[in-house]
Amino acid sequence: MRILQIQKTDLSAGLEKSRKDYTLIGPVKEGNNISKFRELAAGEEPDFSITTTTMSPKSVVFPQSEVMFTFTTDSASPDCNIMKVPEKSYSPRAVIGIRPFDAVAMKIVKMNFDTPDYRDPYWCDAYEACTFIGLAITDPESCDFSTSTGTGPFDTSGLDVLLVDAGDYYLAEVVTEKGDSWVQSAGFNQEAGAESVEILHSMRKEAKKKIVSTVEFANIDKKETLDLYNEEYWDSISFPCLNCGTCTYVCPTCWCFDIQDETAHKKGRRMKNWDSCMFPNFTIHTTGHNPRNTKLMRVRQRFMHKLKYHQSKYNKGIMCVGCGRCVTSCPVNIDIREVCKQMNS
Ligand code: SF4
Ligand code: SF4
Repeated sequence: MRILQIQKTDLSAGLEKSRKDYTLIGPVKEGNNISKFRELAAGEEPDFSITTTTMSPKSVVFPQSEVMFTFTTDSASPDCNIMKVPEKSYSPRAVIGIRPFDAVAMKIVKMNFDTPDYRDPYWCDAYEACTFIGLAITDPESCDFSTSTGTGPFDTSGLDVLLVDAGDYYLAEVVTEKGDSWVQSAGFNQEAGAESVEILHSMRKEAKKKIVSTVEFANIDKKETLDLYNEEYWDSISFPCLNCGTCTYVCPTCWCFDIQDETAHKKGRRMKNWDSCMFPNFTIHTTGHNPRNTKLMRVRQRFMHKLKYHQSKYNKGIMCVGCGRCVTSCPVNIDIREVCKQMNS
């Protein structure tokens, strides 16, 4: 394991230096108490005071709206009726300060967008362009239940570098070759002392201890799908839901999208837009029939997908990293931990 030491006073200069090779993306506070990840302007620094951004960083590789193709139906144009992929840049980008659970969420989404049968080029090319410079969570929020979902405050499995705030300096655990390229580009090369391994170990242990919120889901996997599907509790769980879709928009592992053609005169573009299984229109057929035409069906679908179907399909745990965003953002306090408890009981 290679661990570097970065003085806090040197971080900004290193970030700026790495701009020659990378576009920098990081957490920022926007208006109305909203925080999110976006490209950092020259001289702008990532806001490391935010533990869990309101919006997850999924938009870094999966923009809320993205042009897939453009086209024209103008017979005078040589491109008439040809779908063209617009020019896109997948030059290297460093995502600074991504939290470990959000990086794991990207890997979960990858299972769906990058399979032996199917590869979403937009998502995959953007993901591969990223170097994830994570920031360990030393002071977890109360809704963080990441230790029981297979990740945790210092998890390096989705990261290229893990930064750990150790007071006046950061310890930087270099996890991958991509991470090594970034630290070189930033000019960080001071090897940490031998005691750094012990410091990391003990800080990891302390941070984990602070996470008291947990979920258990092993029994869900053993239960019959139809038994879970037909449970009576879906009525009471779904009753307060407004079908606002907030939980799915803030969630780092939700990836539903819709494809729509937008046309004006003889020009058009095909868009890939975020969608939500909580919206009635999501499953409506062109015949007008909607197989999920009640709120109960849509709420059940969200939790069955996250906690049952994903486990059954991939055998790699649930489709949730325990970030707690849906818990804190739901206007009617529907809590995935409580739903999980009922499904698991
Ligand atoms: S955020 Fe809450 S109210 Fe809105 S769709 Fe999700 S569960 Fe329903
Ligand atoms: S389901 Fe909720 S807690 Fe789990 S990853 Fe999504 S937003 Fe986070």
